[in-house]
Amino acid sequence: MSMRMTTLIDSLALRELVTGLAVTLKYLFKPKITIQYPEQRTPLSPRFRGEHALRRYANGEERCIACKLCEAVCPAQAIYIEIDPSSSSDRRLTKVYDIDNTKCIFCGFCQEACPVDAIVMGPNFEFAEENRADLLYDKHKLLANGGRWKKEIDASIAADAKYR
Ligand code: SF4
Ligand code: SF4
Repeated sequence: MSMRMTTLIDSLALRELVTGLAVTLKYLFKPKITIQYPEQRTPLSPRFRGEHALRRYANGEERCIACKLCEAVCPAQAIYIEIDPSSSSDRRLTKVYDIDNTKCIFCGFCQEACPVDAIVMGPNFEFAEENRADLLYDKHKLLANGGRWKKEIDASIAADAKYR
């Protein structure tokens, strides 16, 4: 049968329309997969790379030892650190720890490089701002994030520990 004849028969039989309706019918009775965000949420991977946070030890001490590895590894040069000159050589601390989220590409290299799990990428992805300036995070904001998301961050680190 010629190609032209086949096309004519398909057109008369409304084959494409019937095929499309069959697909609709097939999914009509399947469970719905649409999520009513923000009331409903899908689960997040423990490796999800969301908003940055700086962590503290259980006694409240800052984990960061100002080694600057995260600053060095950041491909977007989004991290800026100044060492606190008053901190001792045994226990160095940062005076300034800034992350420019307008530059960050959320690669996760900073948290991979950190030897003490101080800088991490938490579960929060709802941090859109109207002003670019609000996306410049300082140490205070990052430590506050660490406190706010502590439970979720600790759970993610524990869940991923055996693969590290
Ligand atoms: S996630 Fe990547 S780009 Fe963003 S601050 Fe960390 S290392 Fe830099
Ligand atoms: S966050 Fe980690 S990698 Fe970055 S300076 Fe502090 S200890 Fe070093």
